[in-house]
Amino acid sequence: MKHFETIVMGVGCMGAAACAHLAQRGCSVLGLDQFDIPNDQGSSGHQSRAFRLAYYEHADYVPLLKRSRELFLELNGESKEPVFHASGGLYIGPEGGEFVEASQTAAERHGIEYERLDAASIRNRFPSFEIPDHFVGLVEPGAGWIVPERAIETHVKMGRRAGADIRSNVTVQSWTTDGQGVRINTSTDEFTADRLIITCGPWALRHLPDLQLRVSRQVLGWVEPQDPEPLTCGSLPIWAIELEDQSLLYGFPMASDGHGPAGFKLARHWAAQSCDPESVNRSPEPDDESDFIPYLKQLLPGAAGPVRDIRICLYTNTTDGHFIVDKHPDHEQVILATGFSGHGFKFQPVIGEILADLSMTDQTSHSIEFLGLSRFR
Ligand SMILES: Cc1cc2nc3c(=O)[nH]c(=O)nc-3n(C[C@H](O)[C@H](O)[C@H](O)COP(=O)(O)OP(=O)(O)OC[C@H]3O[C@@H](n4cnc5c(N)ncnc54)[C@H](O)[C@@H]3O)c2cc1C
Repeated sequence: MKHFETIVMGVGCMGAAACAHLAQRGCSVLGLDQFDIPNDQGSSGHQSRAFRLAYYEHADYVPLLKRSRELFLELNGESKEPVFHASGGLYIGPEGGEFVEASQTAAERHGIEYERLDAASIRNRFPSFEIPDHFVGLVEPGAGWIVPERAIETHVKMGRRAGADIRSNVTVQSWTTDGQGVRINTSTDEFTADRLIITCGPWALRHLPDLQLRVSRQVLGWVEPQDPEPLTCGSLPIWAIELEDQSLLYGFPMASDGHGPAGFKLARHWAAQSCDPESVNRSPEPDDESDFIPYLKQLLPGAAGPVRDIRICLYTNTTDGHFIVDKHPDHEQVILATGFSGHGFKFQPVIGEILADLSMTDQTSHSIEFLGLSRFR
């Protein structure tokens, strides 16, 4: 039976980065995914992911984001086409609302460059937005977007070049630990390892039932605007608007780069319908476009053309919306990275670095206490 220092269960966004960082440090690593690598069955498909530094969700994420941005820029040097597009970002919401105000607080606390705009200045500089007078905005030059498939492929390429054994279409069926390490039973073979890293995204629902995770079915839409010019890369940064129910309508500049459909891509960051990754309907349903079309018509009416495509992607939500990156509470040899709650991609490379730290040295210099399981006890 083949032995590795570390086995990574799930080579999506986080697993791919873990494999690369481990292999580059000389660790013998096996990465296994049940599907193709990359795939669009979990959380990491469909063309683009927003990157913000001024993080309203929790200011402790910001140091991790600064490191992540450095690593994404390094990744650009490893890929023929860019992984990270430095488009800048525009965050809009009612004055006094959490999104804009907490983003500004995070920016000030961590020395992130930003500019605050009133409603008239937003409408003047970004004429696509028809927002009410009590709205304000922040422009963040350091923001941008990531091509998720390319980020995964580039990490896998780097991992393999450094000696990682990364296999697609191999399912981890079960794992057990003993005093020595971990034994893994897969759809093809059995393996042993000193450490197991579980990065299985929405399937954590099945493999880690005690974590109280909720998987949700999120809708992504592509529309064909009448006048694409003000919505293209160069004219428009990544953008997000806080809605009345505190969910975010967000989207990306139109670009000919990247995987997936053509058009103006947008979605709503919200709680959405709960589902199971095994049985969820990944095809569009009649009501799906009501997720974003009414808000688009109201806030960016010039962009509200015919819907050209709808895709489905899954969030793996924790009860507080923050990630879980920690040792397994009952198994010293097992490290968990899950519950990325719909905002994890921008952390991909730094999470890979942290998982390599934890697997190889049992500790990390990154401050991740706020992502630990002890917060739920
Ligand atoms: C619609 C949508 C929009 C998003 N927008 C953003 C954004 O703009 N910015 C941002 O930062 N984040 C965003 N996110 C969140 C981000 O994409 C996720 O947090 C991130 O992709 C999670 O990665 P993961 O590695 O945990 O999961 P995944 O990438 O899903 O990887 C899990 C992998 O594990 C494999 N697997 C599962 N079980 C097994 C098994 N038993 N054996 C072998 N393999 C297994 C799966 O096949 C899968 O490939 C968005 C997510 C969605 C769905």
